Amino acid sequence: MSGEAQPLLRSEESGQRNYAHDDSEFAAAEQRAHALRIRSIVWAVLGVVFVVGVVFALVAPGHLRDHGWSGQLPRDPDLAAQRLLDSAPVIDGHIDLPEVVRFGWRNNVSDVPLDGKMPTHVDIARLTEGKVGGFFWSVYVSCADSSDEGKDFLNATWRVRDTLEQIDVAKGLIEKYPDTFSYALSSEDVKQSISQGKIASLLGVEGGHQLGNSISVLRQYYALGVRYVTLTHMCHNAFADSAGFLIQIPPLHYGLSPFGFKLIEEMNRIGMLVDLSHTSDMTATQAILHSKAPVIWSHSSARAVHNVARNVPDEVLSLVGTGEGQKDGVVMVNFAPYFIAPEGKANVKTVADHIDHIAKVAGKKHVGIGSDYDGIGSTPEGLEDVSKYPALIAELYRRGWDKFELAGLTGGNVLRVFAGAEKVARDLQTAGTPVVYDIYDKREDLPVKREL
Ligand SMILES: [Zn+2]
Repeated sequence: MSGEAQPLLRSEESGQRNYAHDDSEFAAAEQRAHALRIRSIVWAVLGVVFVVGVVFALVAPGHLRDHGWSGQLPRDPDLAAQRLLDSAPVIDGHIDLPEVVRFGWRNNVSDVPLDGKMPTHVDIARLTEGKVGGFFWSVYVSCADSSDEGKDFLNATWRVRDTLEQIDVAKGLIEKYPDTFSYALSSEDVKQSISQGKIASLLGVEGGHQLGNSISVLRQYYALGVRYVTLTHMCHNAFADSAGFLIQIPPLHYGLSPFGFKLIEEMNRIGMLVDLSHTSDMTATQAILHSKAPVIWSHSSARAVHNVARNVPDEVLSLVGTGEGQKDGVVMVNFAPYFIAPEGKANVKTVADHIDHIAKVAGKKHVGIGSDYDGIGSTPEGLEDVSKYPALIAELYRRGWDKFELAGLTGGNVLRVFAGAEKVARDLQTAGTPVVYDIYDKREDLPVKREL
């Protein structure tokens, strides 16, 4: 300020005109104009920063907690992982805790010490250490023995009863620890649970064999809170072909059966996520093309990285995305060592290789985490249980993933896909899409439609 005023004062003092003084007046005017220019540039920059901030706040991934998000991540990968997960905790697509309760405690929820040290991969202390913000509780029961079930899957089995028991177990545990878990039925519920510092708890049914050949059962599972159904487990069923386990099993329907197409239509209409883990390549391809809603792989890795039937091949990955002929989706990477690498080689880096590969083929917005903890006997080195997710995030940070990409991986991507499926269901219902009442055509217990 004083520098700007001085020449003018001097001019008033002297009362006379001289060129030197005019020069200094001219210089002062120039200085003032310069200062003004700088000020307007500073204001313009501040304005842009403000607008960008507002836009970011409006479109930022919804599951991020506010604190700490605007800053840079620390350089140290382990610190960066911690900071990232504080803002964008893990939403795991597949954890088999209910199965552990079934076989370890005969489903007696009262006896299960989740607040102590569990013998397997999951307990509250380790969920907290691993910075888990939510997961799908798999209410899995195994395929029936094919000789018991019969070739058309028509013989009675206990799969629907057992699934109901596993839903009961999951709900019982969620209710037993209300300070830790929060039952979630929608993408909004998940965000809300996380913002309250709780672990959003969703249910997933792992295989069409758990539906008892019935689309009515699908609707009732939805009513009980289930939000994804995997089309198959390791067996074929009335709806679709499975990939089998390590080696592809011979097809039965060559993808989806006609009834399977109907199942997908009803899943879309009610807002049940279509899960393509465990399905054959033909099933996955047909389902992607037929589904109106985005799809998920709740726990699947990349076949190009480790060649087993259960992993997703590049031809299928290339159908995932938002481009022409693609469907939005998220492939949530499975940690099971036999899907990750040759025996004895699975570790944090090889799991990260699967994530990197899926990101390369389908894009970073289409990859997530579906550990399969509690459903796998062994684990990769460095990813022994749910407390170890930060090690994986640190590894990807080391490989150049930025905080937005990592926040998508940890949970933002699956939430986007979930919200997308919810919107499709709303739209279909608003349009008056009829309920699917088709019956499995091989059933003989209900007579063929006749005049009454
Ligand atoms: Zn599985």
